[in-house]
Parts: sequence; C-alpha cells; structure tokens
Amino acid sequence: MPLDPSSRLKSRYDILFEPLAIGPVTAKNRFYQVPHCNGGGYRDPSAVAEMRRVKAEGGWGVVFTEQVEIHQTSEISPFIELRLWDDKDMPMLAKMADAIHSHDALAGIELTYSGINGPNLYSKEVPRAPTAGPILTFTSDPVSAQAMDKDDIRDVRRWYVNAAKRSKACGYDLICLYGAHGFGIIQHFLSRTTNKRSDEYGGSLENRSRFMKELVEDIRDAVGDSMGLTIRLSLDEAFDELSFSNSELRECIDMHSDLPDLWDLAHGTWEDCSATSRFKDEAAQEALITGIKELTSRPVVGVGRFTSPDTMVRQIKSGIMDFIGAARPSIADPFLPTKIAENRFEDIRECIGCNMCVTGDMTMSISRCTQNPSFMEEWRKGWHPELKPAKGDSQSVLIVGSGPAGLEAARMLGGRGYDVAVAEAKSELGGRVAKERLLPNLAAWGRVMDYRLGQIEPLANVSIYRESELTADDVLAFGFEHVCIATGSHWRRDGTARHVLIPVAIDAQMPVFTPDDIMAGHMPSGHVVVYDDDHYYMGGVMAEKLVGLGCTVTLITPATMASEWTTNTLEQGIIQKTLLEMGVDIITTRKLASVGRDHVNMSCIYTGKEQSTAADAVLMVTARDGDDALWQDLKQRQPEWQDAGISSIKIIGDAAAPAPIAWATYAGHSYAMNMDEKPAGDDPVFRREVTGLDPTPISDIRKG
Ligand code: ADP
Ligand code: SF4
Repeated sequence: MPLDPSSRLKSRYDILFEPLAIGPVTAKNRFYQVPHCNGGGYRDPSAVAEMRRVKAEGGWGVVFTEQVEIHQTSEISPFIELRLWDDKDMPMLAKMADAIHSHDALAGIELTYSGINGPNLYSKEVPRAPTAGPILTFTSDPVSAQAMDKDDIRDVRRWYVNAAKRSKACGYDLICLYGAHGFGIIQHFLSRTTNKRSDEYGGSLENRSRFMKELVEDIRDAVGDSMGLTIRLSLDEAFDELSFSNSELRECIDMHSDLPDLWDLAHGTWEDCSATSRFKDEAAQEALITGIKELTSRPVVGVGRFTSPDTMVRQIKSGIMDFIGAARPSIADPFLPTKIAENRFEDIRECIGCNMCVTGDMTMSISRCTQNPSFMEEWRKGWHPELKPAKGDSQSVLIVGSGPAGLEAARMLGGRGYDVAVAEAKSELGGRVAKERLLPNLAAWGRVMDYRLGQIEPLANVSIYRESELTADDVLAFGFEHVCIATGSHWRRDGTARHVLIPVAIDAQMPVFTPDDIMAGHMPSGHVVVYDDDHYYMGGVMAEKLVGLGCTVTLITPATMASEWTTNTLEQGIIQKTLLEMGVDIITTRKLASVGRDHVNMSCIYTGKEQSTAADAVLMVTARDGDDALWQDLKQRQPEWQDAGISSIKIIGDAAAPAPIAWATYAGHSYAMNMDEKPAGDDPVFRREVTGLDPTPISDIRKG
C-alpha cells in the first residue's frame, strides 16, 4: 500500500505527550518545568510571570515558580526569590498562575521554609532550624539558627498551611514542598547532619520524616483534594557520613511511598544538581534515581539537563521517571516540547550547560541565557524566543564577523526579512565558539554556532562570505544601508587586567602565550605559569589543557581561589578540585610583578612582599581587547557614510566590550531587534516595576 504522506506516522516521541495525573490534577504531557530561579524574584514579578507564560506557550505541561518563602522568619536575603508572607504578596503570585494557565499548563508553586539556610538579613528575625547551629549559606553569614521547640514546629506547620491556602486562592494547581539542595527545612529534618534532636522529630528515619508527613497531612486538610501535592527531595545529600544518602532516601520513599502525589527528585547540593556541561553529561543523575519508581505508586520526576528527545523517551520507557523535569533546557528553549511535537528537531535551541542563567540569581541581578537572549526580557523588552517582528523600512545589513554576536544578529535580521550579508575573515565560521569548543570539556559551547548556522542556512536572504576580511574601503564600497561590526576580541599579552593596570616588565627571552595562541595550536612546554586575572573559566581550562599536553603547571591568581567568578556558575569547587587532582600548583592572592628570562616574580596583594617561581613559559589569562580597528577607521571616515549609502554603523559584542558569550548573543539580538526602531532617548530601554508606596502616615506607624 502506498504511504499516505498526510497520515501522521506514530512517532516514537508520542509517549512524551501522554497526559498524566498528579493526584487530583492532570498534566497534559510529561514536560515538567521544575522550579528555577531567575534573578528577578519579587523585584521583577511581571518579568517573571511573562517568562513563565512563555514556557506554558511553548508546551510545558507543568510550569513551576521558583522557591517561594512562606514566612519572614526564614528568608534568604540578599537573594531575591519570591515571597508569600501575607496577602500583599498574592497579586504577583496570582498573576504568575494566570499567565501559566493561559496556555493550559498546570501552575505549580514551590513553598519553602529555609531553616538553617535562611540568614534573615532583611527581616532581622532569629532563624529557626531543627537543630541550632551556624547558618549554612553561600555567604557564610555570621548568624546562627535557634533550635525549634514543639511550639515553633506547630508555628511552622501553621505558616505552611497559611501559604498553601493562599496558593490555592492564587489559582495554583500544584504545591511543591521543597526539601532538596540543602535549601528546605524538610531536608534539614530528614538529614542527621542537620537534625540532632532527641525527641520524636529526631533519631530514627521515621522520626526525622515526621515533620514532612505532618506537613503533607496539614496541607491536605487545608486545601482539600483539589491541589496536587509534591515533595522535592535530594537524591543524595553527600555532605558528610551522616548525610541523607541515596539509600536513606530510598528507605524514606519506601516508608512514605504514597504520601505526596508525586516525588520530585533532585541531586544533593545545587552545585551537584545543576552541574555544568564541563563536568557532567546529560542524564547524569540516572544511577541515583533508577529504581525509585518501584518504591511508590506515585509518579516520579527527575532532572538531567535533558535536551535530547531520545534520551527523554528512554527515561520514560525504561521506567526511570514519569515526567521529564527541566530547568535549564526550558530556559534555553521554552518551545522545546512544541518543537519535539512538531518534529522540528533542528529548531531546538539546546542548552549548552554553561550556568550563565544561574549567575543572575547568584548576583541578584537578572538572569541571562547564553542561548536564549530573550530569557527574562519577555516582559522587560517584549522579546519572544520564537517570534520575530516584521522588518522595518530599511532593506540591507552587512555584518562583519561571524562569532556569537554576528550570527545572532544575522539569524534575527534574516528572520525579520532583511537582506543580510555576513563577512567572515576566516574560512571557519563561529568566531570564539569555533575555537573554544575544542578546549577540554567545552564541546557544548559549539551549540551556540551550530544552532544559529542551522537557522540561517534555509534563509535565502542571508548570505555568508568566508575568507572575507573587510577593510573600511570595502565597507564603504559595498553600499549596505546598515553595517554591524562584530569583529571580536583578543587576549592581552602584557599582564594587565584587574590587579595590574600598568604593563609589567617582561624579559624578551621568556616565551609568553595567550589563550589565542593555545587555541591556534602554538603550545608551550616544560613548566608553565598560568597567570589568571580574568577569574572566569579560561584560566582553569588553560591549566587543564596544558597538563594534558604534559606541561607542569603553576596557576597564579590575585584572587583567593582558582577561577573565582565561577562561584556564580556553581563550578568553583569542582574546578579547584579538578586542578588540584591534576597536579596543578595553585598560588592565590599573588599578582604579577615582572617576568624574567627564566622565572616569574609575583607580589602578595596584601603586603606587597615579592617572591618568584621558575618558569619555562608564561600564559597570560588577563584582559581582552576589542578588535575595533575597522570600527575606528570607519568612524574616522564618518563624513563619507552618506555618499556610500550608509545610514548607520554600529559596533557590538566583544569588539565593543569583551564579555562572556551570553553578552555577545544578547548584543546581536538587541542589534537586530532595534533595527529601524526609534532611538530610545534618555529613558531606560526596558520596562521595570517600582515598589508601590504605602500611603499610611508616619504618625499612624510610630510607637510611643
Ligand atoms: P563575538 O563574541 O563578539 O561574536 P568573536 O570573536 O566570537 O566575537 O567573533 C568575531 C569574528 O569576527 C571572528 O570570527 C573574526 O575572524 C571576525 N573578524 C574580525 N575582523 C574581521 C574583519 N575585518 N572582516 C571580517 N571578519 C572579521
Ligand atoms: Fe543553558 Fe547556559 Fe542558557 Fe543556562 S545560560 S539555560 S546553562 S545555555
């Protein structure tokens, strides 16, 4: 019988689109956006709501908020997650639930009492925890929690019930009780590391899980059976020998098998759970979660930076989990479910596992995504991850440079309908990511160019010219209406960056390298000093690369630890561990003083005291300079632009100001979205919300 092309063949991915019940509510498919932060929190509620709405629009069956604090006695300032302390917080949370419902997703809220993890810097209340002790935060705040007595436990249970009732009134379908990543009090009760009580809430696993059980019963009584109740636990706390281990977790689920409507399982610490692609592959938690489904009749969700539909199907078919949990893959591509449903696999914008999104939370700014520049700009700028506004009045754009900035500009301008030419000096496209993807464990960086080239390829109105190094004469001769200079950057060689601002004396006989040399295949040998005053990933990656080549490596940095800024990407610990285990000698708090013929002189950043170390070569991981010569030439010749038919020339990305890859894709996106738009003037270029003032006069507030 001839194949009828109009009849849709049964797809092997159909299993991902089966509806599935979570207690009294039913998700339309198995795509489950687990709670994740976004650096917006209570400061930017409409931005967060719109971001969640776009996930629902993209096909996620379940969409959760980030953690929501239930009471002021347990808050995690300076971090800005959501709050549900009283009725005043309800409108913003109701707005999120409405946004999620607008596309038939189930709306979930993650309720959190932070216990030993809440320093209360803002509320000034005394923190409370199952057992007294110093607060366990990223920032090592010098405060302690008081041990909860029975009255305190009753209070916390009541606060959870209050928050659950408010969640219901806000319209949520699901409540998640957070007990993972070391961040929620349920875990603090479960773990013998943080629970040393001798009453009925401590000791045996049955006792340690009593609080969790009571909480579920209280909330069920309060919100009836209209909401699904989930528990999020750590798969393996892995802190010390008393930690809530994977085997104890299994015992716990066996003991309380049908207590919640769903078990949501995440790895131990947040660092473990959200590991970068540099250190963990997709589905890295499989061994820890396999077999847990057999202990319960309730559905199970897990995470694993799932971007491959085949891996997702395998997780379901082999009975590892029922829902595909995702935070980062849903950030990089909010339309991942829709694209799988429509067999548009080539359109999937895969997460590269860089954790730039996490840095928005860690720095309390607002999150960015390297792959999806519209993340958290859905409301602030009206950007949408899939939609492209129709083109404006002008017609042609020349983009010089095919790095992340140039390719993103070309993808968006081409999609909008402009005639675009991309000129690239080299035979190879991709700029920095084409080179960095070849460095140890950075292969996923290549997805930045693969996705964009794949999207540009079918566009007849975008032409790419390789081996086309343009000069100002070339640009002026072509006659494009707009010119975008995205020519990238290069690493400096003179030791200057942050702690050294004047070039250091360098003996001409000492071979000095930069990351550009290494990526171009010019390698040092022997004992190499890597001097890192950049502090992001490159210093550590270079050290790894050199060890791999057989070099002896000393890494010197003015910071107190290797790759210091990677604390924000949750990688610093594993980077330092990896380098130490590879035999890299790490010297901290020393800045470069001078470079001799066969040694490097450094000075203590506190005392200025100098010391030296022998070296056969030095690799400078310091500042980068923008490659802006073409821009400078064109700027000098601005009077010629009009005759050449040029309306605008702009410089973007690393050429303008070197920064991480996420800044370059953002710059390219922004350039393309602003094409033919009116200049913004002096006002902010994005929408923002400002705290509403309380009209109560001070005379009504003052005590005494
Ligand atoms: P960004 O991160 O800002 O996109 P990259 O360094 O990744 O910057 O990419 C810049 C690209 O621009 C490189 O591939 C480089 O070869 C190319 N380039 C630099 N100068 C010129 C030029 N004059 N003409 C064409 N291409 C250029
Ligand atoms: Fe993935 Fe990086 Fe985007 Fe985060 S910032 S979602 S890790 S690509």
